[in-house]
Amino acid sequence: MGHVEYSVKDGIAVLAFQLPPVNSLSHALRVDLIAAIDRAIADPAAAAMVLIGANGTFCAGADIKEFSGTGMWREPHILNLMSVLDDSPKPVVAAIEGVALGGGLELAMACHYRVVLASAKLGLPEVKLGLIPGAGGTQRLPRLIGVEAALNVMLAGEPLPATLFAKTPLIDRLVEKNLLDAAMAFAGEVVDARRADAATLLPRARDRKIEEPNLEALLQFARNTVRTAFKEYPAPLAIIDAVQAAAKLPFEQGMVEERRMFEPLMASPVSKALRHIFFAERAAQRVEGLPPKTPARQLESVAIIGAGTMGTGIAINFLNAGLPTWLLEVGQEALERGVARVREFYAGQVKKGRMDPTKAESRMALLKPTLAYTDIANADLVIEAVFEDMGVKEKVFRQLDAIMKPGAILATNTSTLDVDRIAAFTGRPQDVLGLHFFSPANVMKLLEVVRGAKTAPEVLASALGLAKLIRKTAVVSGVCDGFIGNRMINQYFAQALQMVDEGASPQQIDAAIEGFGFAMGPFRMSDLAGNDISYHIRQRQYAEGKLKQRAAIADKLCELGRHGQKTGAGWYDYRPGDRNAHPSPVVDKLIADERAEAGATVRKLPQEEIVDRLVFALVNEGARILEEGIAQRASDIDLVYLTGYGFPIWRGGPMQYADSLGLYAVVRRMGRLAANPRDIPGFWVPAPRLARLAAEGGSLNGGAA
Ligand code: NAD
Repeated sequence: MGHVEYSVKDGIAVLAFQLPPVNSLSHALRVDLIAAIDRAIADPAAAAMVLIGANGTFCAGADIKEFSGTGMWREPHILNLMSVLDDSPKPVVAAIEGVALGGGLELAMACHYRVVLASAKLGLPEVKLGLIPGAGGTQRLPRLIGVEAALNVMLAGEPLPATLFAKTPLIDRLVEKNLLDAAMAFAGEVVDARRADAATLLPRARDRKIEEPNLEALLQFARNTVRTAFKEYPAPLAIIDAVQAAAKLPFEQGMVEERRMFEPLMASPVSKALRHIFFAERAAQRVEGLPPKTPARQLESVAIIGAGTMGTGIAINFLNAGLPTWLLEVGQEALERGVARVREFYAGQVKKGRMDPTKAESRMALLKPTLAYTDIANADLVIEAVFEDMGVKEKVFRQLDAIMKPGAILATNTSTLDVDRIAAFTGRPQDVLGLHFFSPANVMKLLEVVRGAKTAPEVLASALGLAKLIRKTAVVSGVCDGFIGNRMINQYFAQALQMVDEGASPQQIDAAIEGFGFAMGPFRMSDLAGNDISYHIRQRQYAEGKLKQRAAIADKLCELGRHGQKTGAGWYDYRPGDRNAHPSPVVDKLIADERAEAGATVRKLPQEEIVDRLVFALVNEGARILEEGIAQRASDIDLVYLTGYGFPIWRGGPMQYADSLGLYAVVRRMGRLAANPRDIPGFWVPAPRLARLAAEGGSLNGGAA
C-alpha cells in the first residue's frame, strides 16, 4: 500500500496517506486507500480507524490532470471510495489539518466523524474551475451546515477557516494542537460508546435531513444574485439546482442529479477555459534555460527612476510589499508632484476605508524621494520609468552603470524600445532586463518580464520572485517591438481603425467587442490610455518603415488635441467628473470627411465580422510571436491578455479561444476576411504556425494533433 501507511495502536487503525505535494485523490491513492480501509475493517485488532494526511495536510482535492480524459472516473473512482466508507461497519474518523478542499472535503464528509485542527482551511473550490462539486459535496454539505451556508461556501469557492464551522456537524471536535492524538482519543470515545450501546448507528451525512423553512426564498435570492454576477458562467446556477435537489430529494436521487449536472459542465468551454488558466498560471513559472532551483538575488530595497504616471504606480507596489523605495527625479518640482501622487493614493485608501491610517503612514515612511544618484547606489533593484526616448534612457543607464553596486538588477519599464540596446549602454548587460508594468501599475496584474539576449538566469529568477512579492502575474517575453501584449494589440488596433475606414463607427466596434466580453473596446481603451501614446508610436513606425498604411483618422484626431479622457475628448466626448464615453459629433464629422476624401464606398459591418477581425488579428500575431519564440508557449500569451488587456476570462485567452473554435475553422474564416478588397493588404495571410497546426488538426495550446 504505497501511499498509505497502516498501523494499529490502542485498538485504533491509523491510515496515514500521502501523495505529495497535496495528496490529490488520483487513481493510485484511491486504490491504496480502499485497500487500507478494507484491511482495517477485516483487522480484529482495530475497532475504529483514523484517516490522516501523513504530510501535514489532509487533501487538496481531485487530481486536476485527471480532468481531461477519463482518469477521474477510472474505477475505483472517488464515489467507489465513498461507498466503501458508507458501508464500513467500523467508525471512520477524518483527522484534518492543512487543507481539505474539493474532493478532500467531500472525502472527509463521507467519513463518520471529523476532528479538525483550528488552523485548517476547508472549502469546495470547484466553481473556480467552472464545475460543481462532483463527489457528493452538493448533497452532503447542506446536510451538515445548512442550505444558506453551503451555498455561500460553494459559490465563493474560497478556502475558509475551519473555525467558521466549529458549531456545525461538519466538525465533531475542533482542536488547537496534537491532531493525531486528539483524533485517536475521539475514536476511542466512539468505540467505548458503541460498546456501551451496541444499537447506536454510525452517523452519516447522507442520512441527515435538511430542515430549511425559507428554502424557496433562499434559492430564489441566490439565483437572482448569480444571474447578474456570473452571467457567463453556468456552474453557479448548477450549484443552486444541486442544493435544491439535496433539500428536496432522497440522497441517492440527489447524487444522480449532481452527476447529471457535473458532466456537461466538465465538457463546457467555460470550464475548459478556466482549467486552461489554472495550468497556464503554473506553466508561466517554468522558463526555458532557467533551472527550477536557480538562486534569486536578494531584494531588500528598490529605486525607481522617474516619478511620473508609471514610476509612482510602480513605487506603490513595493511600498505595499514593505520595501524601502527610492524615487528619483530630475527636478524638485517633478519629484514633489510624484510624492504627492503616492500620498494621494494612500489618502484615498484611508478615505475609502481600505487601509487604516497608521498602515498608510508606515508605507509612506518607506518612500525616499531624492534627486541624487549617489543615494540609490546600494539599492538591490532599479526600475527606470523615464520618458520613452532612447536618448533619455541612454543617459539614465550610463549613470546607473557608473554608480550602482555590483549585482544590482537594472530594469527598464519601456513599452517599445529595444531592451538589448538599453542593456548595451551598460558594462553589465547580464544584469539588465525589462519589467513592463501596465497602467495603472499598482492595479494591473500583468508584469511582462522582458528577457534580453544577455540577461542572466538569476536575474530572470529574481524578477519572477519579485513578481510574487508584489502579487503580479509574471510572463516572460523575448525582445521585440511591443513585446507580447502591445505587439498583438497593435494589430488589433490596426483592424479597428481599418473598420472605421470601411464604415463602422467607434461605438459599433466597441459595442461588438464588449458584447464578446472584453472589458473595454479599442476606442474607449485608447481614450483611457491616451491617444497620444499610440500616435507617437505610429510616427516612429512610419519613420522606420514598419507601418506602411497611415492611420489618417487617428492621426488627425490626435492633431486636434483629442488625446482621450485626460483632455476631456478623444474618440468620445467626456464631461467633467464623468468617465462615461459619449458619442462625439466632432469625431463623426472627422470620420465622414476622411471617408469622403478617400472616395471609397462605405458599408455596414456585421457584429460578427467586427469580432472576428479584432480577435483573429490577435490570434494571427500571437502565432507569429510563438513561432519566433518571443513567447514560450500559447498559454503565456493567453495570460498576458487575461491579466493585462481585459480579455474575457471565461474564454480563456485569445489562443485558447482559437483552439476552442478549431484552427481549421479559424483559418477558413480568415480566408473569408482576406477576400475583402478594402482590408489591409496581406493582413489575413495565416501565420505559418497557425497554417501548419490547422492543416495538421493541431491546436495552439496543445501543439500538433
Ligand atoms: P511620464 O511622462 O508620466 O513620466 C516620466 C517621468 O520621468 C517624468 O516625471 C519625468 O520628469 C521623469 N524623467 C524624465 N527624464 C528623467 C531622468 N533623466 N531622470 C529621472 N527622471 C526623469 O511617463 P510614464 O507614462 O510614466 O512612462 C514612463 C515609462 O513607462 C515610459 O518608458 C513608457 O513607455 C513606459 N510605460 C508607460 C505606460 C503608460 O501607460 N503610461 C505603460 C507601460 C510602460
